[in-house]
Amino acid sequence: MSVDIQSVVIGAGVVGLAVARQLAMSGRDVLVVEAGGGIGTGISSRNSEVIHAGIYYLGGSLKARLCVEGKQRLYTYCDEHGVDYRRVGKLIVATDELQHAALQRLLQQGRFNGVDDLQWLDGPQARELEPALSCVAALWSPSTGIADSHGLMLALQGDAERFGATLALHTPLLSALCIDQGFELHMGGSQPMTLCCREVINCAGLSAPQVARTIVGLPAQFVPQAHWCKGSYFSLSGRAPFRHLVYPAPESAGLGVHMTLDLGGQARFGPDVEWVEHIDYRVEPRRAEVFYQAIRRYWPGLPDNSLQPAYSGIRPKISGPTEPAADFLVSGCAEHGVPGLVNLFGIESPGLTSCLALAGHVVKRLDDR
Ligand SMILES: Cc1cc2nc3c(=O)[nH]c(=O)nc-3n(C[C@H](O)[C@H](O)[C@H](O)COP(=O)(O)OP(=O)(O)OC[C@H]3O[C@@H](n4cnc5c(N)ncnc54)[C@H](O)[C@@H]3O)c2cc1C
Repeated sequence: MSVDIQSVVIGAGVVGLAVARQLAMSGRDVLVVEAGGGIGTGISSRNSEVIHAGIYYLGGSLKARLCVEGKQRLYTYCDEHGVDYRRVGKLIVATDELQHAALQRLLQQGRFNGVDDLQWLDGPQARELEPALSCVAALWSPSTGIADSHGLMLALQGDAERFGATLALHTPLLSALCIDQGFELHMGGSQPMTLCCREVINCAGLSAPQVARTIVGLPAQFVPQAHWCKGSYFSLSGRAPFRHLVYPAPESAGLGVHMTLDLGGQARFGPDVEWVEHIDYRVEPRRAEVFYQAIRRYWPGLPDNSLQPAYSGIRPKISGPTEPAADFLVSGCAEHGVPGLVNLFGIESPGLTSCLALAGHVVKRLDDR
């Protein structure tokens, strides 16, 4: 096989860019192929931009480990690269006794995961922090923050390129073939091309399962079924009611309709949960009714007619509506038997927080083979 390039990363979202950077820093020759016309036009620009602490995820899961590690690495990276962020802190609130018990379990889970700065607040203590809040108890997470996700992606791209990586936009991977000690890749776009490489890292977000299915030589049983779960956001007209992020006790497929702040201090609510089969990012204004109900449980002062449809994102799930939440699935040679191939499936939240830790994990998986 004549190798054109050593490593090809499919997808230039926050995860693909972090992986490309890590691969380039390890001395590899790296090409990132991106179907779209820019970096981060997929899930990475349609999320809450929250740097999660690592509270919610099952002990020992990749989500728990990579979120806790990723959070520390991300704060340091933002400091070192001038990426805008704010360590605003977050309150997770219980509005009734049932949620009180759920919050207790969350506290245990967070501590088990290594989030050692969580504090339990009773209702009056929570209202000292946020007077407009209605709750019986709250968990205070001081290490939760918000970040400029686009600034982060630009910094990752800059780093990757400085270490020699190349980015090809408008270059969708159409299909791939496992060949002796590597892969033959067929790319479309305005200048279709075929090239050979030793490593392929599939970071195609919502399309990752579909991309994996085009790899001839990868047995189909190693590609999970994709389930897409849309989350819509509504922005609040007027001043934000809270100075910190406020989350309800979590629901099944998402973290509940929460209030996040952008770096300019503007409040937005979301995302809700809607299982979909097609990508359609329009926000249905009628969904606001459910938002008013959900938000007024913890903020009774929400004025009528104050929510406007904002934007939406789609979670790349690999578990369906009636199944337990799946962990990140980083599937390498040990799982599927194809040397040099790593597929990243189900990289939903906390994928932004975890991107640097995920990248380290992927490169270790490649080096371990
Ligand atoms: C509603 C919502 C809220 C979220 N909130 C948070 C949060 O607050 N904090 C947090 O940590 N995480 C959050 N997440 C998760 C986080 O946004 C994702 O984990 C992360 O952005 C995934 O990045 P990615 O690079 O894997 O995917 P993407 O950003 O989607 O990148 C994949 C790229 O692959 C490209 N691609 C697809 N097919 C091909 C192909 N055939 N050839 C070439 N390129 C291809 C796409 O164009 C795309 O650019 C949220 C997610 C959602 C949906």
